[in-house]
Amino acid sequence: MAEITHPTIVDGWFREISHMWPGQAMTLKVNQILHHEKSKYQDVLIFESSDYGMVLVLDNVIQCTERDEFSYQEMITHLAMFAHPNPQRVLVIGGGDGGVLREIVKHDCVEEATLVDIDEAVIRLSKKFLPGMSVGFQHPKVKVHVGDGFEYLKQHTDEYDVIITDSSDPDGPAESLFQASYFELLNNSLKEGGMITTQGENPWLHMDWILPLRKACKSIFPVAEYAWTSIPTYPSGQMGFMVCGKDPKLDVKKPSRAWSRDEEDKQFKYYSKEVHEAAFILPKFAEKVLR
Ligand code: SAM
Repeated sequence: MAEITHPTIVDGWFREISHMWPGQAMTLKVNQILHHEKSKYQDVLIFESSDYGMVLVLDNVIQCTERDEFSYQEMITHLAMFAHPNPQRVLVIGGGDGGVLREIVKHDCVEEATLVDIDEAVIRLSKKFLPGMSVGFQHPKVKVHVGDGFEYLKQHTDEYDVIITDSSDPDGPAESLFQASYFELLNNSLKEGGMITTQGENPWLHMDWILPLRKACKSIFPVAEYAWTSIPTYPSGQMGFMVCGKDPKLDVKKPSRAWSRDEEDKQFKYYSKEVHEAAFILPKFAEKVLR
């Protein structure tokens, strides 16, 4: 079989060079490139790294690695799922690797989890190369719809308790998922007391994205807070989240439900009730701007 090559992989190292993080780039040592294709929407690359397991890359940007994905998948999911008192119908926009679905169905109160991803190639390839994440697709409570999340929300109002936007960056098919109009749609698709979380970029790099994102959320939701997680392979090792709720009395910075320490030990590698509250404590340079 002809050796697969890719412009981001030079001398056996993947380099995440992008205008979105000027002057810096995460590099990962590559054992083997397993797949590369141009889907209808994006360039899809999957390689086995020397120390981070399988890596999914879309349009030259790391989406997830087997070694550290749990940090992001658990936090973007459970910050909402534990803040909400009884999440039964949950929607994921994006999330084509399946990791967020894997986390959602850990909650017995969930009756139905729907995933809407624009790109069938990501779902197909995650099922083939990322079994630890795509296991989320196998659960009987899960439904999958291939399409644009922005368009999907227009057809589904007053339907969901929690909506998680696990999208790629605004550069590409996810651009519409960072606009104020998108948050209006999210609000309309939520039931009474509903909550959202969205991929919220990184305060070290993207304050120019985060501020308008937060302004849009605050203009629509009575509760709009910013949290973060530590994750080695995302730019500058952090990823933030907007965590918003329709219920003005619901303090999303604290879990309204919690599992025992033993259950948390069994189910999670990052999230806990203590980590939930700590995630909303921001360093001064970010807190000053985002308060
Ligand atoms: N955890 C990653 C991150 O924070 O960058 C995101 C992972 S997930 C693979 C991102 C998904 O968003 C991709 O599968 C992509 O196809 C999907 N996506 C991008 N734009 C979309 C849109 N408009 N509607 C639905 N899914 C979209």
